[in-house]
Amino acid sequence: MKVLVIGNGGREHAIAWKLLQSPKVKKVLCIPGNGGTTSMEGCQTLPMRTDDFEGIARFVLVQGISLVVIGPELPLSMGIADYLQQQNIKVFGPNQAGAQIESSKAWAKELMVEAGVPTAGAEVFSDAEAAKAYVSQQGAPIVVKADGLAAGKGVVVAATVEEAHCAIADLSNQGFRLFVIEEYLTGQEVSVLALSDGLTVRPLIPAQDHKQIGEGDTGANTGGMGAYAPTPIVDADCLERIEREVLQPTLATLQKRGIDYRGILYAGLKIAPDGQPKVLEFNCRFGDPETQAVLPLLETPLEQLFLACIEQRLEELPPISWKSGSAVCVVAASQGYPGSYKRGYPISGVQQATESGAIVFHAGTKIQQNQLVTDGGRVLGVTAMGETFEDAIAQAYQSIDCIEFEGIYYRKDIGHRIK
Ligand code: ATP
Repeated sequence: MKVLVIGNGGREHAIAWKLLQSPKVKKVLCIPGNGGTTSMEGCQTLPMRTDDFEGIARFVLVQGISLVVIGPELPLSMGIADYLQQQNIKVFGPNQAGAQIESSKAWAKELMVEAGVPTAGAEVFSDAEAAKAYVSQQGAPIVVKADGLAAGKGVVVAATVEEAHCAIADLSNQGFRLFVIEEYLTGQEVSVLALSDGLTVRPLIPAQDHKQIGEGDTGANTGGMGAYAPTPIVDADCLERIEREVLQPTLATLQKRGIDYRGILYAGLKIAPDGQPKVLEFNCRFGDPETQAVLPLLETPLEQLFLACIEQRLEELPPISWKSGSAVCVVAASQGYPGSYKRGYPISGVQQATESGAIVFHAGTKIQQNQLVTDGGRVLGVTAMGETFEDAIAQAYQSIDCIEFEGIYYRKDIGHRIK
């Protein structure tokens, strides 16, 4: 079968790579893809726009593509799954109504409250001054969230009331009109990605991301600087609890609202010191970089999981099978990221990194006159597996050392929270 993957990040490269390991998948096409999907055997990259739903649907029908996988949240929130389904195309990813779980923090919070899901206490405000008054009354630390997709830039964890007031003013100046003011939660942050067919949920192995740019989890938030899986912070009991207290009631409430949610339901959680999981946010797609650590450990063919979700057969599926050991992904970024950075620097050492035992997933790369060059903030994700977590970490760092481009930056402490 032929599969189309929409998106251009490390996540989409990892999905395409995993799909191609299945004997049933003969070809993967990627729109718009990146330098990694362009050079991967069996994969073809096409420079189409991801908001050209009509063009994509025509392409799928002409090419005889059996399955479309949507990577990023933006096309999902714009209704790409609805459009393709209307053309009788099999698509993995929730419809526009379901994608609100990520695109509107106010909507998601209301859903969580209705579902009785443990989460931070919050109030929603459409008036910035009222939001500021509420902050003054609650005190700090406190969390300010703008409603709407903001690529990770719409959340400020404020240490003081003044900081929270400035954040509300800033977000308001940027054009945001709805604010969620949320209780500050303590504990370890983890990501639990689950498959949903609209009737049942099946969690994948839990992962931990490293959102901040600096070592020791300091500095600005990024899209994610590295991840590992499975994380021992979520043991079997905790995962069962997350399934029972978070995933199942969320899906039941989506159903109650008439939303047929087929795709990834991603819970970003804090595990409180007493073991209570609480939801920070939901996403409607695979996490990046978590996917680059989770999928290399997956043994069940990925297209089987996607098709089971689309055809509502998740319950009948045998248990998902995983390799033993751990996987660690370290992200190499451009100098200046998550602020401004330059593009177009030649990249070397990818082959050596691969030969040394890692999988190199591309994110912000492209091929320019036969040369691989940087083309984004997060450039590459270097994933290594090992029988032990320590082996995987050591291998990932040994391999990323092979890679060079001007201004390369990566955190040296991925996995530090469990060492
Ligand atoms: P992304 O786009 O990266 O997924 P986002 O903009 O959707 O992020 P959140 O994930 O809700 O925003 O928040 C970003 C980060 O802020 C979280 O990863 C977490 O570290 C921190 N955070 C969010 N809410 C809280 C909270 N209630 N208590 C403590 N920290 C929080």
